[in-house]
Amino acid sequence: MESGFSTEQQNYLKGFMAGVEARRGTLSPAGGAEGGGAPPDAMRAAQDAAIAAGGKLNAEEKMKREKHPLDRWDEVEARARAGRFPHGLENLATRWHGLFYVGPAQDSFMCRLRIPGGILSSWQARGIAEVAEDCGGGYVDATTRNNLQIREIPADKGVELLERLADLGIIPKGTGADNIRNITASPTAGIDPQELIDTRGITRKLHHHILNTRDLFGLPRKFNISIDGGGCVAVVEDTNDIAFTAVRMDGEVVFRLALGGITGHRDFARDTGRVVAPDEVVRVCDAILRVFLAHGDRTDRRKSRLKYLLDRWGLPRFVEEVEKQLGAPLRAAGPFEPAPPPDKHGHLGVHDQKQAGMQYVGVVLPVGRITGDQLRGLARIADLYGSGTLRLTVWQNLLISDIPRERMAGAVAEIEALGFGTTASHARGGLVACTGAAGCKFAAAHTKQHAAALADYLDARITLSKPVNIHLTGCHNSCAQHYIGDIGLIGAKAERGEEEVEGYDLHVGGGAGIEQGIGRLLFPKVPAEDVPPLVLNLLRTWQEDAPGESFQSFT
Ligand code: SF4
Repeated sequence: MESGFSTEQQNYLKGFMAGVEARRGTLSPAGGAEGGGAPPDAMRAAQDAAIAAGGKLNAEEKMKREKHPLDRWDEVEARARAGRFPHGLENLATRWHGLFYVGPAQDSFMCRLRIPGGILSSWQARGIAEVAEDCGGGYVDATTRNNLQIREIPADKGVELLERLADLGIIPKGTGADNIRNITASPTAGIDPQELIDTRGITRKLHHHILNTRDLFGLPRKFNISIDGGGCVAVVEDTNDIAFTAVRMDGEVVFRLALGGITGHRDFARDTGRVVAPDEVVRVCDAILRVFLAHGDRTDRRKSRLKYLLDRWGLPRFVEEVEKQLGAPLRAAGPFEPAPPPDKHGHLGVHDQKQAGMQYVGVVLPVGRITGDQLRGLARIADLYGSGTLRLTVWQNLLISDIPRERMAGAVAEIEALGFGTTASHARGGLVACTGAAGCKFAAAHTKQHAAALADYLDARITLSKPVNIHLTGCHNSCAQHYIGDIGLIGAKAERGEEEVEGYDLHVGGGAGIEQGIGRLLFPKVPAEDVPPLVLNLLRTWQEDAPGESFQSFT
């Protein structure tokens, strides 16, 4: 080995150079020339290839081609100075920076933050509370991607909000439009007695790789990545475009790799039969993203998510392309030991940590909303009783960690004084609702309000012996993943007599992870006010007819 590199290193370098050459080779001469000598641009190369194949770029691709949305910051600033919201495709450009105009439901911006793995420091939480009060509606919403949203942001406050978030180390770039969303990961990473691996370092590395790799802001469509370290709080990673699930194989912890999850389109991530070592996660993600970037559909937005490329090519060809991009084969999965199953509502209540004498507590956030004062209060509790760490889950709630056992009662009392609980009924504990008609123009129903009313109704009438997950989503974008709920509701117009009213299509039997399944439609177009008694009946029948069975297997 004259070079001094190992065979593995030489293969890696060969593959890296092959990837560079391939990207150069697919660039049309116009690609660089039009940009006035700009460096090779993978998005433009992919668009050139789509055009050369006889395709017609969709409107969004044309807009991205005309000028990269990341280069439109001056336009975002100009509109903020003029106090004007973006309309039509202008909104797409603003979304590259994490700001969404959500009119007509709310004549304002919404900003999705970027909090890798949901782990937040108390000083950041205090800063977010202040920003939400000064530049938004004074509250934040916890989302299903270990993340927070700020809403009701006036037109002239969007830029100030982004600048102030950046000062807090929170860069919402790419949380909207055709980009990689917040990385979800096990919220109990590093403290979980049952986890196979602490995912914090990997998640952080991947987060920064994405933020600092300009090519990755040129995907054909949005993209979700999730990393499950095997902890007791599920992250529903199989609903993501890339799903990493920690397993033990040959005495070593590796991640199983699955691809193409998009439950709104009734598909879970498909197992590739390959595994990835923890220190390879970033490189493998980059290769997968580059194959998608180069070959995803840029003509029909309904077919531009990764799932559709996998449908078109088949998984083996996609994996082969990823391996070419990497310059080395991915490792085949052998017999492995999975992590113990997560605890269905393990995101609630008090739990022991792996650190002796320490505990974490899950805080119930009714339908995910936290006022600025409450967020400051939670940050104070995290400082006073714990290590100043807050951990957002994908279940629209958060954990406060590193609290000595003997101090937990004090922490819980302070949490309750803020108006939150730490335990919830089996009906309320897994209740997830998207923004709905109060703040989203796509919604067919007021999901958050209906979710709160449903929980109150059920809690007054039934005590469940096992946890169930109930998901309410306003439209087919499925932000609250209705297809994976034990009971999944999606907004639909319903009829009451002659009148058209808000309602839901009610699905049953969905689940993720070990309970993986797509819910099936049982009751279409149920008026919203009929949903609570109908759900109560379903749950009563389950309890009475099949005690001991899970709701999913019963239905
Ligand atoms: Fe809006 Fe639809 Fe997402 Fe709900 S699921 S927040 S209605 S886009």
